[in-house]
Amino acid sequence: MSQRYDVVIVGGGPAGLTAAIYLGRAMLSTIIVEKGAIGGLMALTDKLENYPGHETVSGGDLSEVMLKQATRFGAQMLMGTVTKVEKTADGFTVTSDGGLVSARSLIWAAGSSPRRIDVPGEMDFVGRGVSYCAVCDGAFYRNLRVAVVGGGDSSLKEALYLTRFASEVVIIHRRAEFRAKRIIQEEIRKHPKITLMLDSVVEKIMGKDFVESVTVKNVKSGETSDHPFDGVFVFVGYTPQTEPIKHLVTLSPSGRIQLRPDGTTGTPGLFAAGDVVEKVVYQVATAVGDGAAAATATERYLSGH
Ligand code: NAP
Repeated sequence: MSQRYDVVIVGGGPAGLTAAIYLGRAMLSTIIVEKGAIGGLMALTDKLENYPGHETVSGGDLSEVMLKQATRFGAQMLMGTVTKVEKTADGFTVTSDGGLVSARSLIWAAGSSPRRIDVPGEMDFVGRGVSYCAVCDGAFYRNLRVAVVGGGDSSLKEALYLTRFASEVVIIHRRAEFRAKRIIQEEIRKHPKITLMLDSVVEKIMGKDFVESVTVKNVKSGETSDHPFDGVFVFVGYTPQTEPIKHLVTLSPSGRIQLRPDGTTGTPGLFAAGDVVEKVVYQVATAVGDGAAAATATERYLSGH
């Protein structure tokens, strides 16, 4: 049997946890449905240096404190992957493999999941040399040689993190310029363990039981070559998780939720926050702001009903 709440928040990342803190303080009964690690992608981040108030903080530690704050103000947690969201006459029902929840209002803060490069071998070697999380798997690559695919902030930051363990980190990027912030680019360019393979794409990942080598194609010359690697870390962006909610919102061309100028989704009682929303800056600091704004809008909506 399902329990009824004032608000159900889908996603326990910085946006969802902040919303829960605000709603708890507003004395609204709140439940967070989360499918994996509390803190979301933030929890998988080794070190944040741009979250105000902390010179340096681990993503895991920050997640724990945010969760503690949210539960102190009364938020409940349900572990489960949401498969269906339905609008009802008096709110929403959220179906997950952890149970059914109904609430008067819903905040969708489900974040995004790592994008794949879709090359032969990638899926065959997930957990056996192919990884999407350096913090989770980096320590398995002590004194080994790893490739990091991508040229954004995630790729370069994770490459730096992997230098703690790996003997060599090779960044394979499809262009000659990086998308990552200049300060991170400068760090990787002077790091003795990092080398760059630019204008290059991975064509195939090979091995027997574990990854052993990678076929790389130079996109300028068209030449392909095989390189020995023990691991391949893929950071080529993230796909927003909107599938169960897409019938209730407008999606942008990149698949994110397009908010209206007043910050609403278009469906009364449904709000959205964090990486699932189309916006300009995708940072923990902005996710926290989104969560606070969504919670405040929710509170206002519920007080009118
Ligand atoms: P991103 O900025 O979208 O970068 C993705 C990278 O992957 C790009 O370099 C892209 O190449 C490459 N790429 C995409 N598809 C590919 C494919 N099929 N094959 C090979 N390469 C491919 O993603 P992100 O680095 O995950 O960052 C996401 C957001 O989080 C950004 O807004 C970023 O600023 C933020 N972030 C910030 C920090 C921080 O420390 N402040 C840390 C992590 C993330 P092209 O450049 O050629 O398109």
